[in-house]
Amino acid sequence: MGQAKVIDGGAVAAQLRERVREVAAHLRDERGIIPGLATVLVGDDPASQVYIRAKARACAGSGLEAFDIRLPAGVSEAALLAEIEKLNGDERIDGILVQLPLPGQIDAHRIIAVIDPAKDVDGFHPLNVGRLWSGLPTMVPCTPQGCLRLLRTVHSDMTGAKTVILGRSNIVGKPLAALLLTVDCTVTVLHSKTTDAPGTCRVADILIAATGQPQIVKAEWVKPGATVIDVGVNSVADAAGRNRVVGDVDYASVSEVAGAVTPVPGGVGPMTITCLLLNTLLAACRRRGLPDPEF
Ligand code: NAP
Repeated sequence: MGQAKVIDGGAVAAQLRERVREVAAHLRDERGIIPGLATVLVGDDPASQVYIRAKARACAGSGLEAFDIRLPAGVSEAALLAEIEKLNGDERIDGILVQLPLPGQIDAHRIIAVIDPAKDVDGFHPLNVGRLWSGLPTMVPCTPQGCLRLLRTVHSDMTGAKTVILGRSNIVGKPLAALLLTVDCTVTVLHSKTTDAPGTCRVADILIAATGQPQIVKAEWVKPGATVIDVGVNSVADAAGRNRVVGDVDYASVSEVAGAVTPVPGGVGPMTITCLLLNTLLAACRRRGLPDPEF
């Protein structure tokens, strides 16, 4: 094989972001609605702070209002629940995102379950998860949604495509499996206890890596011509001791074999945040009984 086509997540996200701006402007000008997204950050984890800042910036650049709620690392579960209830009742807020992971004294499942499902822009509430698996309209989690949008740039029809997902987390692997079933992929989900992951991956027409294991997917794992989506974001030290971000895919070797591949950075990452804005606009419309805008 030659060199794989690079799926440019930055460019796809920029185009989608343009549409988000258009819809937000329409809601403001025609209906006086400024969609609001509340982000809740507990503690001061540096990576989480970076994500939260990026989300606030993205809102500002797209005509959404950001509400930045910060709570100390030692906050009690009861106090966090009370904060979420307040956001549920706040009419200015259409979307609520609680930045994960949460400190050990807090049960993330309990927190997610208390978010109003209509404001659950992450799509993690059990009701929305059930709707996704039932093939009903719902809030589609941002990273899986971003992956599907990227896949659509190379596959107009995914019917029957042998699709292997490495990773079964509630944030990426599982919702992605549900989502890809809705477009008729034949889905296999692998995890850390899977035996012969390379052999299973090698039959995939579409391979998606979401393990958090730096560059685990090598060229020998990839069927020639396959499409490879790399969700991983891993910080590793290079030979000079400097930190750099790599994916779950060994990009250099895999791009010699694959038909198309997403880079890291510049692949799935920019899509995730754009899909969050998009979900907030959907929530703003649905809460008011307006039809879903097209994205
Ligand atoms: P996670 O909760 O840690 O889940 C990782 C999953 O990978 C688990 O299901 C685990 O299996 C599986 N796994 C680990 N080692 C494996 C192996 N050797 N072979 C097969 N499966 C293996 O992580 P996550 O939240 O899903 O995130 C995954 C990666 O995506 C991370 O690098 C994260 O930073 C990145 N991420 C990126 C974005 C983005 O927007 N680009 C968004 C979210 C996450 P078990 O279930 O058996 O433990």
